[in-house]
Amino acid sequence: MRIASIRQGVVPISSAIANAYIDFSKMTASVVAITIEDGAGRSATGYGFNSNGRYAQPGLLAERFVPRLEACDAAVLTAADGTLNVAAAWAAMMKNEKPGGHGDRSVAVGVLDMALWDAAAKLEGKPLWRLLADRFRGGEADDAAWVYAAGGYYYPGKGVDALVEEMKRYLGLGYTTVKMKIGGAPGTPIKDALREDVARIEAVLKLLGNDGSRLAVDVNGRFGLHAALAYGAALQPFALRWYEEPLDPLDYATHATLAEHYAPPLATGENLFSMLDARNLIRHGGLRPDRDILQFDPALSYGLVEYLRTLEMLEQHGWSARRCVPHGGHQFALNIAVGLGLGGNESYPEVFAPFGGFATDTPVQDGRIRMPDAPGIGFERKNDLWAVLKDL
Ligand code: MG
Repeated sequence: MRIASIRQGVVPISSAIANAYIDFSKMTASVVAITIEDGAGRSATGYGFNSNGRYAQPGLLAERFVPRLEACDAAVLTAADGTLNVAAAWAAMMKNEKPGGHGDRSVAVGVLDMALWDAAAKLEGKPLWRLLADRFRGGEADDAAWVYAAGGYYYPGKGVDALVEEMKRYLGLGYTTVKMKIGGAPGTPIKDALREDVARIEAVLKLLGNDGSRLAVDVNGRFGLHAALAYGAALQPFALRWYEEPLDPLDYATHATLAEHYAPPLATGENLFSMLDARNLIRHGGLRPDRDILQFDPALSYGLVEYLRTLEMLEQHGWSARRCVPHGGHQFALNIAVGLGLGGNESYPEVFAPFGGFATDTPVQDGRIRMPDAPGIGFERKNDLWAVLKDL
């Protein structure tokens, strides 16, 4: 095994949308292509990108992580069974990095990790979900993954009617469960914002046959305890699928307090970027393994090598992998969901193009999606994304 080349680029992932915390008008993503030769005449190019919600990391990639990866020789890159040793390449990238302070570093490493897994699966001639099922789950893979349509963003001039129309389009695409943003009305006193959001929620629930289990709401970490409790009291009668990121992602003790007062499912974790941060959430966040949802995004949090550690940690703490529904709406997490038996995956049918969404020829049916039988992660089967990646 040798690395023949690593290319990187920065592409816009911009959009006029906003959630309760940020707008996405200047959002970018790093993309990488890694070509690996196996020494026996085969070569494969793996691709990676950094999900959404964090910016491109060209500096960290160029100065630290790409040179460390390029310096890996065949002894590092080749596993005992002759396959690409992604875990050893990952360890080489992380040499001389101190613990803690994950932030943007975990994003840069995650981009390269994704490309390495794509290449590893291509060299073995398998889809990544199949490689993962064979290697970590005794060959058992799910037939399909549950996916839900995430949207309901705030954008200028968007009213309740436009929100309901958007959700209708998702149902028309085959989704059965949808998610909308709440808590985003700018500068509005909490009791007015709450009244407005309850009206938005009721309008969407009407479309969903008043079945709360088909609607999730997302605060994007904006509330303090007072607002989270006020909203929680108002949301509880709707029995929603989940109440997402009500609080700052690192404020574990306050999550524990909220969980004492809000009985239906909570969801969080998309802004925790390491196994150790995830473990602190599990230890101190008061979350309940029989109902709550964990949304760690493998692309943002050092990639799949680290995500495997997170799944192992969860098992040790009595949590099923089925409680995990990763953030990001990308094909990498979808492969992981099917191959490792997660609870499902997020999907963005209308935003974060071309990175959001799945293979062009695999429609969503009854809220579930099947995986194509293409080698690697399957980027070549997603036309709009492949148009960007192939130019690298
Ligand atoms: Mg979210």
